[in-house]
Amino acid sequence: MIKVENLVKQYGDFRAVDDLSFTVEKGEILGFLGPNGAGKSTTMNMITGYNSATEGNVTINGFNIYDEPEKAKRCIGYLPEIPPVYPDMRVREYLSFCTELKEIPKKDRAAEVERVMELLHVKHMQNKLIKHLSKGYRQRVGLAQALVGNPEVLILDEPTVGLDPMQITWMRGLIRSLGKEHTIILSSHILFEVNAVCDRVLIINHGKKLVIDTPENIIRTLGGTSGVRLVVRAEEEDFRMAVGSLPNISRCEKLSEDVGEGLTAYAVYSSDGAEIRDRLFALCAARGFCLFELGAIQKTLEDVFIAMTGEEGSTI
Ligand code: ATP
Repeated sequence: MIKVENLVKQYGDFRAVDDLSFTVEKGEILGFLGPNGAGKSTTMNMITGYNSATEGNVTINGFNIYDEPEKAKRCIGYLPEIPPVYPDMRVREYLSFCTELKEIPKKDRAAEVERVMELLHVKHMQNKLIKHLSKGYRQRVGLAQALVGNPEVLILDEPTVGLDPMQITWMRGLIRSLGKEHTIILSSHILFEVNAVCDRVLIINHGKKLVIDTPENIIRTLGGTSGVRLVVRAEEEDFRMAVGSLPNISRCEKLSEDVGEGLTAYAVYSSDGAEIRDRLFALCAARGFCLFELGAIQKTLEDVFIAMTGEEGSTI
């Protein structure tokens, strides 16, 4: 379990992290989101004890990271933004070195190296120099070092950076399965990934917490004005005029998708977020527009993130 209380990091007059509090329970994956410079890496560095806090407390499984750093750090596996791999070491040699650093009993070290190599599918690379590995494999070795000793708490800073699409899917699956038995904080700029992998999401900006909740709740409560997508057979001018005559309609956009001969797709938005599907259905029936499809446009985590922070994440 991770407990963060009133955490502050101050550089001169500037607060990179400003009074941040949250907890992550065992068996939970928390997605950590924020635009560039929001304070994610600074927070992760303080949680893992790599950086001191100006104010506040971090407790890992009951051990305060500043009062009992050795005990707290033993519970943490950390994959920083740039994995701490040694380019001139071979994969097995490096992971073996990590078992020494993490004070794994001598008799268990070889088996532990085998375990993490198998988990991360890097065994066939065990005798390669790390500097000769591709970026994706270096990232896997970085995660392997975080898993040495099977720490309960995993802090993963952009774990899928540099991986190809196949590896990304595989890595997300691995993180999800690790999430059942571990406590995980995962930062990512890929909002689709956060939505797919994380149980809850923390969004920060300028070092401050904006929201922490499940992706579904965040989308539902902060998603804002909803829209409706419909596919109709109607003259564009007639359709637009008719929709324009309805009260509280803010926008009617023609969508570029190919929906079939003589058909057109539109997105229609209400100005007050009210349900408008019933009104659009009645309108089409009354005006004789042939309605082929009618459905709500689902907001995404990306929509909420952009609305809250003014920044675009990436989606793949
Ligand atoms: P990114 O998504 O780009 O990795 P981030 O959310 O991880 O960004 P941080 O790296 O935590 O952001 O940086 C937060 C802020 O703190 C930034 O404005 C950064 O310039 C500032 N900062 C970080 N380290 C220092 C330092 N040693 N001295 C002064 N300012 C710093």
